[in-house]
Amino acid sequence: MPWLDDHLRCMRCGTRFPEGTGPSCPECGLVVTEESTLSEMREWSVTRRRGRWRFVWVECVLTFGVPLAVMSAVTTALVRKSTYPLDYVFAVTTWPLMALLTGLARWRGSEREYAAWLANRGRRAIGQRAGG
Ligand SMILES: [Zn+2]
Repeated sequence: MPWLDDHLRCMRCGTRFPEGTGPSCPECGLVVTEESTLSEMREWSVTRRRGRWRFVWVECVLTFGVPLAVMSAVTTALVRKSTYPLDYVFAVTTWPLMALLTGLARWRGSEREYAAWLANRGRRAIGQRAGG
């Protein structure tokens, strides 16, 4: 399962470019250069510099796990009207734990794909030019 998309995206309109796009964005006409495009690979190069545990705790557990835990606890209280303490323990631990495990898997998969992308970088340069 791929974790990172290595296609380039236009910084102005967000269009995802097919292989070998150039010299301009098919949607908005912005000239395709290294500076006018984004890709998840380049975004990952920033994310990975901040470290694995920052990624896992901030971008996975705090961003997804904790809000889902709160929603789950609220649902347990207001919709299910549960009076069993274990229901609440389950509600507040399941999502952060799932986010932690998913974050670790994402980190591992993304690092593997990023290393492969770096090794092949010259072949997929903008406009199929060598180097980059
Ligand atoms: Zn565009």
